[in-house]
Amino acid sequence: MTELRRDMVRDSWVLIANGKALKPSDFPIYKSMICSRLGEEICPFCEGNEALTTGELDAFRTPGSLANQEGWLVRAIPNKFAMFKMNKEILEYHSSGIYSRCNGLGQHEVVIETPQHGIQLHELPADQIILLIKMLQKRFKVLASDTRIKYIQIYKNKGLFAGASQDHSHSQILAYPMVPDRNKGVPKYFEEHRRCLMCQIIEEESGKDRIIYESDHFIILSPYAPRFSYEAWIIPKEHQRYFADINDEEIKDLQAVLKGYLASMLACLDNPSYNIMINSAPVNLHKQDGYHWYIEIIPRLVISNAVEIASGYFINPVDPETAAEIIRNELLIEF
Ligand SMILES: [Zn+2]
Ligand SMILES: [Zn+2]
Repeated sequence: MTELRRDMVRDSWVLIANGKALKPSDFPIYKSMICSRLGEEICPFCEGNEALTTGELDAFRTPGSLANQEGWLVRAIPNKFAMFKMNKEILEYHSSGIYSRCNGLGQHEVVIETPQHGIQLHELPADQIILLIKMLQKRFKVLASDTRIKYIQIYKNKGLFAGASQDHSHSQILAYPMVPDRNKGVPKYFEEHRRCLMCQIIEEESGKDRIIYESDHFIILSPYAPRFSYEAWIIPKEHQRYFADINDEEIKDLQAVLKGYLASMLACLDNPSYNIMINSAPVNLHKQDGYHWYIEIIPRLVISNAVEIASGYFINPVDPETAAEIIRNELLIEF
């Protein structure tokens, strides 16, 4: 059973996979060393191996093909090692002495981006990336229709140092019963200024050297205070709360921006592991003003050190103005 435990010292929550423990050899770093010595394990995400995954939630398929069989283009399944499950009616808080915890109510899904092994997100054809974006939107809307869910995080871990345990290109969706603490600055800014912080950032950055690229609907930005070297944000220029609401024209634009930026960033930085996070407004809550969805792309070039873990303050050896200039000079986005 997975549960959320309150970390009283840091005033935050931790997701704990209670009652099971990975053996040292099951952790991704060791597993990848063993696999590279013995050859690849059978991949459950490859076309033809549908029986090795949990049952399909949704898929875009070729006409006439059946669920949980070959013939899919993009496929959504429950995460086999889900951090959250919809197995309780309500969120139940328990306390024991000074400690408190609650059940892991929520949903954890995997969206397999392609039936093909060995091809990465930025290498997929434009139409395939558009299908992926549409599937992420579809799943977001389904999850948001359950009022027990308060926040939906779409994310991608690519490569060992980004936390990926499967090499086959995939994204994930984690639907939480609460809004993660990390987004605190956004509603606080709205309370104080009655303005959307992200709209204000777009205005402030206009014409400045941290802008990497601007398309019809999006800007790519090196943020003012990036936690990671070469961290970049893709922000819709128009105020929008939810990624799930963007229309076909915006999806087409986003596809080109995402594919082009990723390919350029990977070429520029010698193919590092990376994370992508799509941050939207909370769902099923009254207070949603001031949220403006955006994508974070973070190459994982260094491993967190003691100061960062102790203080929570990240140390970034590359200033964002230089990072923006370096990527901008190598950038190739095709429409
Ligand atoms: Zn595969
Ligand atoms: Zn805004």
